[in-house]
Amino acid sequence: MEAPDSSMTPQTKARTIEQALRKRGVRWTNQRQAIIEALVGTDRHLTAEELLAEAREVDPSVSAPTVYRTLHLLVEASLVSKRVFQGDSACYEVLLGKGHHHHLIDVENGNIIEFTDEALDALLDKFAAQHGYRIACHKVELFAVPIDKKDTSS
Ligand SMILES: [Zn+2]
Ligand SMILES: [Zn+2]
Repeated sequence: MEAPDSSMTPQTKARTIEQALRKRGVRWTNQRQAIIEALVGTDRHLTAEELLAEAREVDPSVSAPTVYRTLHLLVEASLVSKRVFQGDSACYEVLLGKGHHHHLIDVENGNIIEFTDEALDALLDKFAAQHGYRIACHKVELFAVPIDKKDTSS
């Protein structure tokens, strides 16, 4: 786990996102406000369904189509990243205040651990260079099962 820009409070993130969307001509509504508050209030990688449930805690009138539309706008504005880790459902995570990081996904319970490794990034750059490329961006996603402690205790 990393804590890149801890100076960005959820309130700051929510305001930054609101301003960015307003600049793109998005009408600001109580529903959108509730969705953004739910989104910045967690460090987890939420599915749209989970976000809908969280947003309804803030404002019960939030509808599923609004959640999907808002997420789409946020991804287009590069404020949120959309990833499909497992199965069919995409996970969303706010990029503001977060540096580049990798993901380890527990395939049994869906837990996600974030990590960074400069040596690994350097290795990937070197590999690309060996093939005549410069990496524009990269993703590292490890799908993992917990190590059975009984196996290692002997
Ligand atoms: Zn992440
Ligand atoms: Zn990396």
